[in-house]
Amino acid sequence: MFEPATPLERKRYYREEWNVRDLPDFIADNLHMREFGFDHNGRGPSDRYRTFRDERSLSRFMRVRYPFAAYSSVAFYREPGKRKGWQRSELIFDVDAKDLPVRSCDCEGVCPTCLDEARELVLMMVDTLRGDLGLDDIHVIYSGRGYHVRVLDPEVMELGSEVRAEILRYTAGAREPRRKFTDGVSSYEMEHFSIPLGYHRVFTERARHVLLHMRGDEDIEDVTARTVKTAVRNRDLILEDRWGEFRSVIGPRVYPRLVKGISKINMRMLDAKVTIDLKRILRLPTSLHSKVSMICMEVKNPETFDPLKSAVPRFVEERG
Ligand SMILES: [Zn+2]
Repeated sequence: MFEPATPLERKRYYREEWNVRDLPDFIADNLHMREFGFDHNGRGPSDRYRTFRDERSLSRFMRVRYPFAAYSSVAFYREPGKRKGWQRSELIFDVDAKDLPVRSCDCEGVCPTCLDEARELVLMMVDTLRGDLGLDDIHVIYSGRGYHVRVLDPEVMELGSEVRAEILRYTAGAREPRRKFTDGVSSYEMEHFSIPLGYHRVFTERARHVLLHMRGDEDIEDVTARTVKTAVRNRDLILEDRWGEFRSVIGPRVYPRLVKGISKINMRMLDAKVTIDLKRILRLPTSLHSKVSMICMEVKNPETFDPLKSAVPRFVEERG
């Protein structure tokens, strides 16, 4: 499991298991407007500006070339082969299990634990995109080492990078909720822990996720190692939503710094570059992630999805 695929295994996958008809509709329906990119040797997608008229021509290419990795643009172009005539782009969120700044495992690449923590994060994000931002055309893709959330609602497709970055900060919980001074007393609980609504709820959820998965050796800006350890030791309070007590244990002067530090970690749980780049290419659902021998695929039910059950190609099972 998680071992690279040999060229022979790739060939078998694309000839015996892969079928162009398994492409999600949100890609198949506008194939001709997307730029495709391929990595043929494991050194990155250097074969770019590819286009396909239809599913048949893509299918032929994949069976003949069985690439190491396949990608397609999140952008729709009038001339995709020149990356010209940009029309719109999907809104993307990228959660890579391997790059999570906080995860409870200690693995080198990915393992079932961090993949599951990435999935938990994705579930929260999808909730926020639906519930808070009213978005609806949302697709979750298992990338092989994490997840992509792809949004195709018309109202976001034409947005520029700056607004996308703002949506990212909201969805990630990347701003610390503002202090409110009531009668000269600052109170975080009033703002986002006792009355968790809107952004405060988003922030609280993401902060909880980070605090519950910390190992205790993480670096948090402006916070001492001792405070990090105290936070981890007392996280049962967070599990029980006793934020006020948690804050007392951390100390009222240190607490705002901890909250700020966590907001920065929340941001780093997602790859911001992917969200703001309108011309990004993303791993093609149904294609093989050859570095780990997993299938990149659309996830119909993220609540129950288990990549080790659903995204393992046959050749891995047959390796013995
Ligand atoms: Zn892991």
